[in-house]
Amino acid sequence: MVNKQALKEIDSICKKHNAQLVAVTKKRSTEEVRELYELGYHIFAENRVQDLLAKKELLPDNIEWHLIGHLQRNKVKYIVPFVKLIHSVDSIRLLSEINKEAEKANKTVDCLLQFHVAQEESKYGIIPKNIDTFISNLTTIETNNIKIRGIMGMASFTEDKNQIKKEFMQLKSIFEMLKKEYFKENDFSILSMGMSSDYKIALEEGSTLVRVGSALFE
Ligand SMILES: *Cc1c(COP(=O)(O)O)cnc(C)c1O
Repeated sequence: MVNKQALKEIDSICKKHNAQLVAVTKKRSTEEVRELYELGYHIFAENRVQDLLAKKELLPDNIEWHLIGHLQRNKVKYIVPFVKLIHSVDSIRLLSEINKEAEKANKTVDCLLQFHVAQEESKYGIIPKNIDTFISNLTTIETNNIKIRGIMGMASFTEDKNQIKKEFMQLKSIFEMLKKEYFKENDFSILSMGMSSDYKIALEEGSTLVRVGSALFE
């Protein structure tokens, strides 16, 4: 069930920071998602393509769906026709595939570059020291049908608030650097950071979009 009290509080904190609240519906039943929908929330995120497709099928058409988890190239074609924002782009080959499928679908797909700044090992996310290589490789592919709107990242799973804050500051500085040096358009404007356990810290460090799941439910 939706925790209405928590939802109200999180929503009001996001509004205070002018940030977008994206409700992460992974592992939640269709009924729970519908409950959120009926409370007026229409921006939802899933981390797996299968789950995204399954939920989309059962829920109203005017939902804005985001993908926040790792995306395999062979699954790009299933989501391109409807997805509003892909948060988890971390390779040139993936971007290239998204562009190809978007061209076929005759549309432009909004993407975020995912960065890995947390302490845990992860196969996913661009390593900050590889930014320059990534950017120079970006100029070698067709990008007419994709729009890079900003970046996404996750902080470490730790109780250490200082560590979390440091990582969000690092993401913010990557975002500012990319905006200044490479993506000067106004629509490079999304800094996607903050989840249930750390969204308050993320908002204080300049997040423009939080991805909150478990805290919205009881
Ligand atoms: C699951 C998930 C979230 C939301 O996590 P909660 O702790 O449930 O708020 C946010 N971002 C990503 C990438 C996720 O996989």
